[in-house]
Amino acid sequence: LQERLSGVFDKLTRRGALSEADVTAALREVRVALLEADVALPVVKDFIDGVREKAVGQEVLRSVTPGQMVVKVVHDHLVETLGATSVGLDLRASAPVGIMLVGLQGSGKTTSCAKIARRLQERERKKVLMASLDVRRPAAQEQLKVLGEQAGVATLRIVPGEPPVAIAKRAMQSGALEGYDVVMLDTAGRLAIDEELMAEVAAVRDAAKPHESLLVADAMTGQDAVTVADAFKQRVDLTGIVLTRVDGDARGGAALSMRAVTGCPIKLIGVGEKLDALEDFHPDRVASRILGMGDVVSLVEKAAETIEQDEAEKLAKKLQKGTFDLDDFAKQLQQMQKMGGLSSLMGMLPGMSGSQMQQLKKAKLDDGMVKRQLAVLSSMTPGERKKPDVIKASRKQRIAKGSGTTVQEVNKLLKQHKDATRMMKRVHKMGKKGMLRGGLP
Ligand code: GDP
Ligand code: MG
Repeated sequence: LQERLSGVFDKLTRRGALSEADVTAALREVRVALLEADVALPVVKDFIDGVREKAVGQEVLRSVTPGQMVVKVVHDHLVETLGATSVGLDLRASAPVGIMLVGLQGSGKTTSCAKIARRLQERERKKVLMASLDVRRPAAQEQLKVLGEQAGVATLRIVPGEPPVAIAKRAMQSGALEGYDVVMLDTAGRLAIDEELMAEVAAVRDAAKPHESLLVADAMTGQDAVTVADAFKQRVDLTGIVLTRVDGDARGGAALSMRAVTGCPIKLIGVGEKLDALEDFHPDRVASRILGMGDVVSLVEKAAETIEQDEAEKLAKKLQKGTFDLDDFAKQLQQMQKMGGLSSLMGMLPGMSGSQMQQLKKAKLDDGMVKRQLAVLSSMTPGERKKPDVIKASRKQRIAKGSGTTVQEVNKLLKQHKDATRMMKRVHKMGKKGMLRGGLP
């Protein structure tokens, strides 16, 4: 049935489905692009496998090549993997909310700590206290103090010789006693993953119980990304990632690697050394950068838009003229599936009032029903679709059988089509003679 259905509508918006060969060829290019963007190898492999499954069989839009279509599918999958929407810090916990930063040395923890604190104070009017737990690197605690002074954020008083866990506890206590909303814990880094550091971070986590545990990672991290992310994920319950040095040359493959390995959202990105160089993470931008095929993506998006608009305008014209047969009805149902309802189509006609539009929106059909209706339509002969009046009882039975539905459903669809045509004629008479409003709402 599904095959027969797609057969009916093939001519409409597609020139065929993506074949295994189309996909394999295009994915070879994509693989190279991902590796060039420094996505870690195992992550590339998983990603390609996932997208292959998704791509084979997808329809190809009229004015693009199968290869371009695959790139678009890859892009969408990439955005989805990176996290479809941007997720901010979660501060919904009782004060003081602990935010712990972990990561390798030089990844940008201390800088990010001050950037985040500054942002929370300025944008969200939070009272923030920062504490450095880095007792290993000389002057690390002073570094945070200086940044705090620059950012106008309070720092915990430095007690020489105090171990990290004790500092963390004191920070949380001071935070509670002195009425801070947020306490930020900047932990020590190491050049590479080592057991001692991991044990320390885990001990701090247990003592302070931070609400957010953010992995700070350099966007330049290449194949190491998997090891680093994995190690931190196992010892600390990471809640998010801060990607730094996104202002550099890196194509951002680390974003995909880190995200895939930890399963945590990328919450913020660092885009410079200055304290205001912190931004929300936008998956679509990073996806384009990782793939390096942004122009292809926008080409395919444009092609999709044009087709939908063309079709919608044609159907709207037919509705106005009252020459709206069941083929058109089928097209309309297809459109509805794609662009969320009869209302957007009707919105293009003059003479529709706001309340009529509201009613149409409410009447939006559910997916299953649209599918069944399309099945009914595809079981009719072309002649029947052109002139629904010829469909008598025996034919209805045949159609119902062919589409796996009932005669009642066939009747309902015919009536719906009749009502729609009648209503459109009426709307047409009421409305001014005007042209189509053009464009989708
Ligand atoms: P930590 O060892 O993880 O605490 O790293 P730091 O915060 O001390 O940062 C190490 C260096 O990276 C410093 O020179 C920072 O100025 C620089 N840095 C941090 N974040 C960024 C960023 O987003 N972009 C750029 N260009 N430099 C950054
Ligand atoms: Mg530091």
